[in-house]
Amino acid sequence: MTPSSARPRVLGLVAHDRMKDDLVDWARGWAERLEGLALFATGTTGARVAEALPGLEVTRLLSGPLGGDQQLGAMIAEGRIDALIFFVDPLSPHPHDVDVKALIRVATLADIPFACNRATADAVMRALV
Ligand code: PGA
Repeated sequence: MTPSSARPRVLGLVAHDRMKDDLVDWARGWAERLEGLALFATGTTGARVAEALPGLEVTRLLSGPLGGDQQLGAMIAEGRIDALIFFVDPLSPHPHDVDVKALIRVATLADIPFACNRATADAVMRALV
């Protein structure tokens, strides 16, 4: 989390379906600072953010249920993600729950800043930029 390091900080973005509007709204509020970060998102989340904020460059991975969460997890395991923002829907079941758990596990293991809700996402951004 050293702002002066050579490469841009890399942020992973994921939102469950019922949380995507919230994530887009959150990203609008942080748009200026997000511009200075490299953004990697699961497929649909990335599409929503890019559509709402055309100024942001978002690298889209596969959709979460089709392996995107695992791709993000692999990037975290390889030390390629500095922080993860994951707007989790706590009220719905998800067919890819095992992938979600694996992503949370690897983020915990790698000891990266990792936000599952908006308040923590704000705190992570304040620490990151
Ligand atoms: P999505 O995946 O951005 O492709 O919808 C998110 C998820 O893991 O549900």
